[in-house]
Amino acid sequence: MTDMTTDFIAIDGPAGSGKSSVSKAVARKLGFGYLDTGSAYRALAWHVLDRGADTADADAVLAAASDFPVRLGLDPDDRTVRVGETDVTQAIREPRVSGAVSGVARVPAVREQVNVLFRTLVAEAPYDAVVVEGRDITTVVAPDAPVRILLTAAPEVRAARRAGELARESAETVAAALHKRDASDSAVVDFLNAAEGVEVVDSTDLDFTQTIDAVLAVIERLRGAPRG
Ligand code: C5P
Repeated sequence: MTDMTTDFIAIDGPAGSGKSSVSKAVARKLGFGYLDTGSAYRALAWHVLDRGADTADADAVLAAASDFPVRLGLDPDDRTVRVGETDVTQAIREPRVSGAVSGVARVPAVREQVNVLFRTLVAEAPYDAVVVEGRDITTVVAPDAPVRILLTAAPEVRAARRAGELARESAETVAAALHKRDASDSAVVDFLNAAEGVEVVDSTDLDFTQTIDAVLAVIERLRGAPRG
C-alpha cells in the first residue's frame, strides 16, 4: 500500500540558532515544504496589536485567536504571511511584535488552536515531507515525527547572529531582547534541552553550509532507516 501521509521533519531551537535559514535551505534542497511556526505566533501577536488589544491579557488573546484569518504557505521560496488581506511579512519581524509574541504564545488554549492549524497544513501539503520549525514541534506538535532535531548554539553566538540580521539595532539591545524572549519562552516549552530520541545539532562552531550538511545527514540517516 502506498503511504500517502506527509512526514514531519521537526526542528526546534532558540532564536539565533540558525533554525529558520537552515530549515528553509534543507527543505529547498530536498524538495520538501517548509513551515515556520514562529511566523504564525508572530502574525497572531500582530493581529492582537492591530485590534488594539493587550497581548498580556489571555482572554483578549484568545478572542483574537478565534478570529484569526492567517494565511501561511509551505513554499520555502515564498515566506509571505497574510492576516486577512494584509501582507504582514515584514511587520511581524519588527521589534514591537518580537516583544509581544511571548505573551501571546504563553496561552495554552491558543497553542492548541495553532497546533491544529499546523497539523492540518502538513496533512494537506502536496509534499512528501514538510520541514516544520519552532519551539515545541519535536515534543508537542509532532512527537512521533520520523526526524526530530534540536538545533542549538551558544547564547553569545545566537545574539551575534541575530544582531547581524537586525542591522538598525545595537548588539546590546538585540542580545537583551533575545535573552528576555528566551527566558519567557522557555518557561512555556523547553527548547534548550533535547527530549528523548531528539537529535542535537550544535551549530556554535559550524558555518551555515556545515550546519545544513549536519541536518541533512541526520535526515538521511533517520528517514533512510526502516521504521517501526
Ligand atoms: O521562531 P521565532 O523566533 O520567529 O518565534 C517567535 C515566537 O513565537 C517565539 O519567541 C515564541 O514565543 C513563539 N513560538 C512558540 N512555539 C513555536 C514557535 C514559536 O511559542 N513552535
